Amino acid sequence: MLTFNEYADNAHKTALYPDRGDNIYYPAFGLCGESGEIAEKIKKMIRDGDGILTDELRSSLAKELGDVLWYIAALSHEIGFELEDIAKMNNEKLLDRLARNKIKGSGDDR
Ligand SMILES: [Mg+2]
Repeated sequence: MLTFNEYADNAHKTALYPDRGDNIYYPAFGLCGESGEIAEKIKKMIRDGDGILTDELRSSLAKELGDVLWYIAALSHEIGFELEDIAKMNNEKLLDRLARNKIKGSGDDR
């Protein structure tokens, strides 16, 4: 099984952008771009594909999710966090909200 940090270590080997280690912009913009690619593919599924999630599209979306993960790993690194810690913090936050019946609603710190 691949852990988050093993993934991040491998991703880091392929992070060859300018000023790596002191550049939050590149992975932040990349994350937006790859997220946009996912939205675009789903938009086209609605527009051109009768809203049907084909196996080809599923596969394509899975690859784009991987691209999103790569940028999350890179941005995590740029802000000084391990990917594992990001995942752990998010799990803890949401499980805490669930326990307090605060999943619904808005606000980052509810
Ligand atoms: Mg992509």
